[in-house]
Amino acid sequence: MTIKTSNLGFPRLGRKREWKKTIESYWSNKISEAELNQQLTDLHKENLLLQKNYNLDSIPVGDFSLYDHILDTSLLFNIIPERFQGREVNNDLLFDIARGNKEHVASALIKWFNTNYHYIVPEWDNAEPKLNHNVLLERFNYAQSLNVNAHPVIVGPITFVQLSKGGNQTFEEKVQTLLPLYKEVLQSLVDAGAEYIQIDEPVLVTDASADFENITKQAYDYFAEAGVASKLVIQTYFERANIKFLNTLPVKGFGLDFVHDRGYNLEQLKSGDLDQDKAIYAGIIDGRNVWAADIAAKKDLIETLQNYTSELVVQPSASLLHVPVSLDDETLDETIAEGLSFATEKLDELDALKRVINDNDSDKFDVLKARYERFQNQAFKNLEYDFSQVRDTRQSPFAERKKQQDAQLNLPDLPTTTIGSFPQSTEVRKQRADWKNNRISDEAYKTFLQDEIARWIKIQEDIGLDVLVHGEFERNDMVEFFGEKLQGFLVTKFGWVQSYGSRAVKPPIIYGDVKWTEPLTVKETVYAQNLTDKPVKGMLTGPVTILNWSFERVDLPREDVQDQIALAINEEVLALEAAGIKIVQVDEPALREGLPLRSEYHADYLDKAVHSFKLSTSSVADATQIHTHMCYSQFGQIIHAIYDLDADVISIETSRSHGDLIKDFEDITYDLGIGLGVYDIHSPRIPTEDEITTAIHRALQEIDRSLFWVNPDCGLKTRKEDEVREALTVLVNSVEKLRESKDPATV
Ligand code: GLN
Ligand code: ZN
Repeated sequence: MTIKTSNLGFPRLGRKREWKKTIESYWSNKISEAELNQQLTDLHKENLLLQKNYNLDSIPVGDFSLYDHILDTSLLFNIIPERFQGREVNNDLLFDIARGNKEHVASALIKWFNTNYHYIVPEWDNAEPKLNHNVLLERFNYAQSLNVNAHPVIVGPITFVQLSKGGNQTFEEKVQTLLPLYKEVLQSLVDAGAEYIQIDEPVLVTDASADFENITKQAYDYFAEAGVASKLVIQTYFERANIKFLNTLPVKGFGLDFVHDRGYNLEQLKSGDLDQDKAIYAGIIDGRNVWAADIAAKKDLIETLQNYTSELVVQPSASLLHVPVSLDDETLDETIAEGLSFATEKLDELDALKRVINDNDSDKFDVLKARYERFQNQAFKNLEYDFSQVRDTRQSPFAERKKQQDAQLNLPDLPTTTIGSFPQSTEVRKQRADWKNNRISDEAYKTFLQDEIARWIKIQEDIGLDVLVHGEFERNDMVEFFGEKLQGFLVTKFGWVQSYGSRAVKPPIIYGDVKWTEPLTVKETVYAQNLTDKPVKGMLTGPVTILNWSFERVDLPREDVQDQIALAINEEVLALEAAGIKIVQVDEPALREGLPLRSEYHADYLDKAVHSFKLSTSSVADATQIHTHMCYSQFGQIIHAIYDLDADVISIETSRSHGDLIKDFEDITYDLGIGLGVYDIHSPRIPTEDEITTAIHRALQEIDRSLFWVNPDCGLKTRKEDEVREALTVLVNSVEKLRESKDPATV
């Protein structure tokens, strides 16, 4: 039986982040809307044609977007946040919902399942669902006009509703409202010649899926009655699905993840849970990591899968949105490069598999197989680790530490601080690029960094903040920076992955054992501290986040790699402490996103995460204050683990989730220091004093004032200098008034 190949989604960014540059040029009025549309169409075309090189039987359309595909779906169905209603549905509306504007705050931004991609949360409050301009159909027609064999991709109604918020209707009512609109869109795509439609329902791999099996069944039965279900492939990824349940849905087939399912999808097939006449769209190439596939094992897997269906399509396990575009532009050590596979290389692996299976043509397969085997035999790991010198619990309990820290730091009521970074201005980025490309000397770059640090120390003092930071000007990114300096990591040139909107990150690749060899951040931090009498916080990224935001090796248990990183960070924490730094912040913004999708695995993940964090932070003296920071996640499920980190102070985002987080604190006595983000740094909008005061008041209803800190909700690197100065001034002014009034209700 022959197989086909397909893809679930391709990186939007472009090989050199052209997508980002185009969109940002439009935001800063450097190009017109017509130019924006033209340039994006060109990029979309490039993405489609690039994929076409790999002999795929079908290429996805609908993955490309101006910002986020969930937001596209909200606009398609007119689920427009109330505050933005009444405007024409166009690009500017889309960008305003995503980013906020002068009058209105942006919609919430939440991590897409357990990835570092963020989607814009649909808001139902007073929404008037109807069908707007059918952009998906337009893009599908466009792909066809390029002679590309395409299939449309759309997020399914169950997932869309589950990820949305607001409105008075029940879950079922929302789904039912959307069904006729979906039907119309699906019908239009079938009429336009779609052979199949990939309808993404990743919520079907979560614990919650059991609760909405009924409504899922109703929805897909409805599509069957409408005559479109035979074209639908329900796509799941990131975990196992309940195949027995899927089998009851009257659709063409199912997309299943055979990489991140811990083996359970195949087991279910072996138990006979799927009828032979359902197509299987098998995710066999890891769509979330950058390692070349064990191509021989993949061939075996395909041959096994062929027993369970009469129609097998092989594809990556998830959208390739989560990996960089291509290795072609990299200049890497060949011994490591051989082991890697980015988006286009993954499509090439599919091609190799199809050729060997369908045509017995093993040329490409043999090459990939040999490369894979050579890489496995490289010895990058043989370090010995000594954990005996490292504590995983602080010397004294928090109450005792706090006394010593208060005495040493002498901070006012409601201390103010920021999360670490200040604007990565054009100048900062230019100097770094000049230095990296040897256009300026080490000395000149160092002087520039020192001047920038000094300038911002002065700005922070003038504004009146209490705990200062050096500003992270020397860092490109909070993980990549550490990846560049720690042994065992590889940093690419163009290995960008979209994080949210136009923002991309370049995850380092952990290919070998991790080791700290020299101080990473001490120079800049100490330089800043010497300029001021106020305490300067050292600023590090924690082991869980470094691991989650890197491409991890898969030849070693995850927790071992995490503990190796923890040891390295511990070395740096101690180096800062030895250099006289009294506060060290170890950021863990990615702790939540790594949480397994199924709750049965949560405790194990959290235990290991807490252990690694504590390994990295517990060896300091009691008087040294450890901060941590987290953002843009739903914290409810992990609030106890956050507490177990035993950080002296945590700063945590709340503003963009519009206060939802504070509710999580109602269930726990949180008696460690805590700063709740009082304004949204992802929006250019300047907060008002009233907003900040209200946010503080609200938080003080749950949190003891003596433990409370005031801060923005994340680092300020993406903002403009003026915005930062203005916003922080508002923040400090609000706090000063609160200090004077000492409102008894909140003391
Ligand atoms: N310290 C980092 C910064 O300020 C934290 C960033 C983050 O939470 N994502 O940029
Ligand atoms: Zn943050």
